[in-house]
Amino acid sequence: MQVVGHLINGKQSHNQNDPTQDVFNPATGAVTKQVSLASKETVEEAIAAADAAFPEWRNTPPMKRARVMFRFKALLEENAAKICALLTDEHGKVLDDAMGELTRGIEVVEFACGAPQMLKGEHSKNVGPAIDSWSEFQALGVVAGITPFNFPAMVPMWMFPMALVCGNTFVLKPSERDPSAPMFIGELLKQAGLPDGVFNIVNGDKVAVDTILEDKRVQAVSFVGSTPIAEYIYSKGTANGKRVQALGGAKNHAIIMPDADMDNAVNALMGAAYGSCGERCMAISVVVCVGDEAADELVAKLKPQVASLKIGNGTDTSNEMGPVITKMAQERIKGLITQGAEQGANLVVDGRDLVVEGHENGYFVGGTLFDNVTQDMVVYQEEIFGPVLCVVRVDTMQEAMKMIDDHEFGNGTCLFTRDGEAARYFSDNIKVGMVGINVPLPVPVAYHSFGGWKRSLFGDLSAHGPDAIRFYTRRKTVTQRWPSSGVREGKQFAFPS
Ligand code: NAD
Repeated sequence: MQVVGHLINGKQSHNQNDPTQDVFNPATGAVTKQVSLASKETVEEAIAAADAAFPEWRNTPPMKRARVMFRFKALLEENAAKICALLTDEHGKVLDDAMGELTRGIEVVEFACGAPQMLKGEHSKNVGPAIDSWSEFQALGVVAGITPFNFPAMVPMWMFPMALVCGNTFVLKPSERDPSAPMFIGELLKQAGLPDGVFNIVNGDKVAVDTILEDKRVQAVSFVGSTPIAEYIYSKGTANGKRVQALGGAKNHAIIMPDADMDNAVNALMGAAYGSCGERCMAISVVVCVGDEAADELVAKLKPQVASLKIGNGTDTSNEMGPVITKMAQERIKGLITQGAEQGANLVVDGRDLVVEGHENGYFVGGTLFDNVTQDMVVYQEEIFGPVLCVVRVDTMQEAMKMIDDHEFGNGTCLFTRDGEAARYFSDNIKVGMVGINVPLPVPVAYHSFGGWKRSLFGDLSAHGPDAIRFYTRRKTVTQRWPSSGVREGKQFAFPS
């Protein structure tokens, strides 16, 4: 059986002594490949390759680095069908959803093509007599990315295109659940002309992650995944002197105001809650309805649509939802649905018993809808990361906003309304990093930065956009005097001003 290895110094490799783990097709439950789990030595080999490649890459003109990205973008587009097929085979998402993911990743590559402009720095002439001063953005060195299963193509591309154009070299540790798309993308980078060693991939688990966090040569770590691991990466990475950005989990609320365009809201919520089986950090998993009238209308409209979601293998693009990632995830989600019902939520649509004909061993969960959910319930508090939407009823917008502010996560949120004043108040005051007004998945475009608040992000800088330049560079300010003839300063013991 094929073993997905690593990409180190431009070559794919698998160390026979390293353990392996099964890779599944979640739509069928079949083992399709093995993935190599890098040992400490294997990860150190990748870090050494990145470290060796740094001096030359750092001094490559920014425009030449950007040109690699131009070629890479073209190769991603030419190979889109193959990448999407790999995503669907190992993640399970429907093919057109995979294309959406890839497109969002390509957009960051396009943004990275403009890095020479963003790296120009700041210059001030005559800050003192014959003294000029400038601030430049210098590359950090070896940086690492550790990424989750749910966007195996897009999330790595939130990181490495910007890191590379800034002059860094990179070690990526993708999710061991769906490693093939990142490996193929790594090959495309090589074809685009990236020198060997500048971009490396190690597949693996905690052993690989801990090696990255402990190695002194790694200057910065970007992480995206669940909150407990994000917090671990942030504390361990910063304790070891690294710059860290760690994006964590989410529980994204939408508020439905009584004046909302309900049909528009229902359509938007169907995609936002059930698209990709709810396995998105920006999925809407709670709807807070202001007033019983709005709640009754919403639930009545959602119920038949949730019950009739078309679910099956992601290779069939007429399906709206594929399977969840693993058997364990399927069982966990079903267990949470049971717990929600036991705690008194009204289970309006129950997806626990779904069987997809011809795919009896696939990890499917049907669309699920709860009404009358309250803040003390586990289905309200936890990130379910499955196709489960919880409706909560409140009397006022203030009550809805307080609920959102009190939640541990603050990734995304959305308000459905026709009232501009309410919308403005909401976006100004809500304690969440990414806000939508009648836009259910307010995922910032590549030239803005992506990141949540509260326990959805550990660190100060978000992913891609302008924050990426700051994260992947270190500022250096140079003050320089070239005395002109005849201008000589005497001794001066006071602080220069
Ligand atoms: P995860 O935290 O289990 O894994 C993420 C990465 O961490 C993987 O590469 C994994 O190998 C590694 N890892 C797992 N356990 C580890 C451990 N004990 N020590 C060290 N490393 C470990 O997350 P996941 O299940 O792959 O992804 C889903 C989660 O990611 C959800 O919580 C979702 O909200 C979150 N996510 C967040 C964003 C965001 O932008 N905030 C985006 C996508 C996904």
